[in-house]
Amino acid sequence: MTIVDTRTPDPKKFIMGATGEWEIVIGMEVHAQVTSEAKLFSGASTSFGNDPNANVSLVDAAMPGMLPVINEECVRQAIRTGLGLKAEINLKSVFDRKNYFYPDLPQGYQISQFKQPIVGEGIILLEMKDGEKVEVGVERLHLEQDAGKSLHDQHPTMSFVDLNRSGVALMEIVSKPDIRCADEAKAYLTKLRTILRYLGTCDGNMDQGSMRADVNVSVRRPGGEFGTRCEIKNVNSIRFVGQAIEYEARRQVGILEDGGEIVQETRLFDANKGETRSMRSKEEAHDYRYFPDPDLLPLEFTQEFVDELAANLPELPDEKKARFINDYGVTTYDAEILTSELRFANFFEKVAKGRDAKLSANWVINELFGRLNKEGIALANTPVSADQLGAIVDLIKNGTISGKIAKDLFEIVWTEGGDPAVIVEERGMKQVTDLGAIEAAVDEILAANPDKAEQAKEKPGMLGWFVGQVMKASKGKANPQAVSDLLKAKIGLE
Ligand code: ADP
Ligand code: MG
Repeated sequence: MTIVDTRTPDPKKFIMGATGEWEIVIGMEVHAQVTSEAKLFSGASTSFGNDPNANVSLVDAAMPGMLPVINEECVRQAIRTGLGLKAEINLKSVFDRKNYFYPDLPQGYQISQFKQPIVGEGIILLEMKDGEKVEVGVERLHLEQDAGKSLHDQHPTMSFVDLNRSGVALMEIVSKPDIRCADEAKAYLTKLRTILRYLGTCDGNMDQGSMRADVNVSVRRPGGEFGTRCEIKNVNSIRFVGQAIEYEARRQVGILEDGGEIVQETRLFDANKGETRSMRSKEEAHDYRYFPDPDLLPLEFTQEFVDELAANLPELPDEKKARFINDYGVTTYDAEILTSELRFANFFEKVAKGRDAKLSANWVINELFGRLNKEGIALANTPVSADQLGAIVDLIKNGTISGKIAKDLFEIVWTEGGDPAVIVEERGMKQVTDLGAIEAAVDEILAANPDKAEQAKEKPGMLGWFVGQVMKASKGKANPQAVSDLLKAKIGLE
């Protein structure tokens, strides 16, 4: 393929070598397991965690004479994914045989798509932490079969093969070399996973192998010619992708600065050592002898079929984010967090519905998500429901409790559960807005500190200290605004 450089070199992303600055260039090939009941060309189940070889049909075991039959649901999922990546959908594509020998590949070839993939060029938008927007081009998406798995740790002298994965549908999503640093690569994977999960076309669980990344890395002088790349195979976590890139880029810079050359090769990332090492060089690379699979007709469908799928696509992360910013007035940063997972977004909307959206966002993100994170609990298992959190927001908003008491209330709901309004009533947590009661406390503090009250006339900044004292005396239940107003009047400010 001819590569077009779409990015302007950005010094923030350069790495420093002994002889000057270098720019990293990254392209990713992501394998995403298609969410479907059955495999790409057989009716066997795709469920994870079953006994070895429990999900194997005669087709998956490549018994002689078996013929593949395309699973229409997998085709739909690939098209939906393409639409989610704003990509060109090819109404005609071709399945090819990719030939190689391996014990976990009983057919002796993988059915894949080579020259004519089902999905062409698309785009993934990234929003970095500092607000920078990055566009990463998608080169193509094609459908292919997964292979089985060799098990070397089950027996002292034998290896076994588990064909449960054999024939499971994968989407290979290939990016253009538009990524320029480890953080962008991590953001790319995160965003791609979010899109796949919103679409329901891949569960994105990297720890179960449903999504894995081959990371292509090269280095060059800023803005110069593209360098020779190395491909780091099958990295299975987003964090490892970042580590692998950092290590690999340094390794290549070291070689080039010593006057050496990068050999194009396939490498492995060793997560324990945090380094990449050579797996095979280009000379050892397979010659796959691709040719169209004679058992399968070209895959053809109509534009109406695509339009129908497009019409039923769910709201995607970028659109949802824009809507949250627009309709709820939350910040871009908050919108990014809230839409990073569909479950987050739905939870937030349940809390924010008919309420102060910014206050809701604050409580969802800072109090609830912060706490869940700290305790390592998934939102699915949250002890504080959207209704309970919404009730807390209501109590703050209508002045029943102060922000400080709200945190105590949150703690009670988190540990004991219950209806927040009832808890506030029963435990006497209501904010005191009764001016008489507040005034008594204010008078008391002022009488106890006549010199400070005098100083405060000159230094209005001391007001905060008085407010604090009154709040403390009321055990946090006084309405801080009322306290502040009363203090100002009594001290003679304004
Ligand atoms: P293959 O791995 O089959 O040879 P491609 O040439 O299409 O396939 O490239 C695979 C991946 O490598 C793509 O994601 C592409 O963006 C990336 N890539 C290509 N050239 C470079 C480069 N010089 N540096 C980093 N990544 C690259
Ligand atoms: Mg490759």
